[in-house]
Amino acid sequence: SKEKSGTHYHFFETEMSDRNMESILLENALYKALDNEELEIYYQPQIDSRSNTMIGVEALLRWNHPTEGMVSPVHFIPIAEETGLIIPIGRWVLINACKQLIEWHKLGHSSLCMSVNLSGRQFEEDNLVSMIEGILQELKLAPEFLHIELTENQIVKNTKVTMRKMKQLKELGVKIAIDDFGTGYSSLGYLKNFPIDALKIDKSFIQDVVEDNDNAAITNTIITLAQNLKLNVIAEGVETEEQLEFLLSRNCTIMQGFFFSRPIKAEELTKKYLLKF
Ligand code: C2E
Ligand code: CA
Ligand code: CA
Ligand code: CA
Repeated sequence: SKEKSGTHYHFFETEMSDRNMESILLENALYKALDNEELEIYYQPQIDSRSNTMIGVEALLRWNHPTEGMVSPVHFIPIAEETGLIIPIGRWVLINACKQLIEWHKLGHSSLCMSVNLSGRQFEEDNLVSMIEGILQELKLAPEFLHIELTENQIVKNTKVTMRKMKQLKELGVKIAIDDFGTGYSSLGYLKNFPIDALKIDKSFIQDVVEDNDNAAITNTIITLAQNLKLNVIAEGVETEEQLEFLLSRNCTIMQGFFFSRPIKAEELTKKYLLKF
């Protein structure tokens, strides 16, 4: 059953070995996914581990394929980008994540923030800023509660247009974080020019930060860089207490990862973390 498949991702691992065939099948199914209500948003807490409080959540998209079970966003987001489906899907994520945040605000957690991933294709849309502004106005959500996550590669692709859009988002009051920081192929120069609020250290560096000197050095460097540029820094993929201690000792206090919680459904997050005061 769907329930049982849980977080095990199935990706047509049957006889079909042809990647193109898989893509075509997924593509056709993805067209119907939004209308058929097969898409769902899971939420992962972002914790300030100094005060041990949840300060925000990241919205992570899930697709319950009718026969294949859960399909990982790693597989279907690229297809959504190629087909342009990422535009309606991305808008759906923004609207529903913001609506959910408002529900949590109403429960009394009025300073909770919502992080939403934007793909490059979405960012390139002409009406991106007015679309976001429209959603915030319609839902009456103050912009500072919405945090947009963009990867470095998306940002440096077309610096002129990107700069203009980021400035517009900044003027609107939305916060911007650089996702997967350190994994791109860009120079660091853009950091001082772009209106960025936070860096997210990629989980590949955190994974064995305690055992691997190189990963520890990279993580230290990113934390110091963020502190010197007066940017917030978030560590993703924190799975162990040792990783948590390492990060705390470097004054990186905002964390996300399985150590605290996997991405879960909204109702589960409410019950587990937001109903008990
Ligand atoms: P991301 O934005 O870097 O998200 C973090 C990924 O790490 C998530 O995978 C999350 O489930 C996983 N993760 C969190 N904590 C841990 C941990 O402690 N250990 C490990 N091993 N993994 C952890 P997920 O949900 O499969 O998403 C994969 C990627 O798909 C995301 O990477 C993001 O790039 C993309 N994605 C997800 N939802 C959306 C969306 O709504 N829009 C767009 N454009 N992209 C999305
Ligand atoms: Ca399968
Ligand atoms: Ca992200
Ligand atoms: Ca990442």
